[in-house]
Amino acid sequence: IRHAALASWNGPAATSDGQRIKVLANVADGASARQAAAAPVEGVGLFRTELCFLNTTTEPTVAEQTAIYGEVLSAFGPDRHVVVRTLDAGSDKPIAYATPAAEENPALGVRGLRLSFTDPSMLERQIEAIAAAAAVTGTRPWVMAPMVATVAEAATFAGRVRRYGLTAGVMVETPSAALLADRILTVVDFLSIGTNDLTQYTMAADRMATQLAHLTDPWQPAVLQLIAITARAGQRAGKPVGVCGEAAADPALAAVLLGLGITSLSMAAAAVRPVGAQLGQVTARQCSRAAEVALAAGDPAEARDAARAALSRLT
Ligand code: PEP
Ligand code: MG
Repeated sequence: IRHAALASWNGPAATSDGQRIKVLANVADGASARQAAAAPVEGVGLFRTELCFLNTTTEPTVAEQTAIYGEVLSAFGPDRHVVVRTLDAGSDKPIAYATPAAEENPALGVRGLRLSFTDPSMLERQIEAIAAAAAVTGTRPWVMAPMVATVAEAATFAGRVRRYGLTAGVMVETPSAALLADRILTVVDFLSIGTNDLTQYTMAADRMATQLAHLTDPWQPAVLQLIAITARAGQRAGKPVGVCGEAAADPALAAVLLGLGITSLSMAAAAVRPVGAQLGQVTARQCSRAAEVALAAGDPAEARDAARAALSRLT
């Protein structure tokens, strides 16, 4: 990325020949949302609500939750949309009042949306609070669930969200959800691929295990294939499919994702300019060529090199 382009990039994101993609921010609370709102982003692609409650021992009331979500929604106002993720408690993000006691395999246990299987009342209160915050701030947030594996889970969740007049989606974090993307898109309004967990579950490698970093790499051919399947399903359905995992913050991978047909990229605010600047220096054709060669590669290093070569080749 040329330095001048990086400093001057101010959004919205598009390739040099005008192919648009939304660049969005990942936020954790009101403070990080206000900071991200100053960056050249079109909204929030992932508000990780559980991060508001890491040190909370009892479930916040609906009124307390409404105030917290309202801070994030008002930071972006009615013109930039915010995707609120319902509580992703469990595994690497234990929440005292929600996470079940000792499980053998917390990453494969009752986490995320699964907490609502036996008792949906906590999820119901959260959606009620999100809807109340939307009304107070005059905004129309999208609401999505983490850790979805089946079409029935997606349908039940979407039903709960739509009862409040809100737009409903689910995250694609399991290989099952990616393989079923076509069918899941018949029951939800949008998908968002969480590449951190999708990579962990595809490669059967703990995302926290540093000695397995060569496996927990979103450039792995199997992960790229699942992203491609999901993106194609979105194109067929004419519904948005974003990426909100760390993969979206890698400028070369961002170009590959655009080439695969992904419609938005959500990332830490610090990554916004490098990604936006990179996309502005390549054509849509280079991105689809980069996606093609990355998908055909045998391993992550080969995929990276081939994609970078396709992106730097003059067209
Ligand atoms: C992901 O899994 O990629 C994701 C965006 O969610 P989190 O990192 O919060 O699990
Ligand atoms: Mg996740």
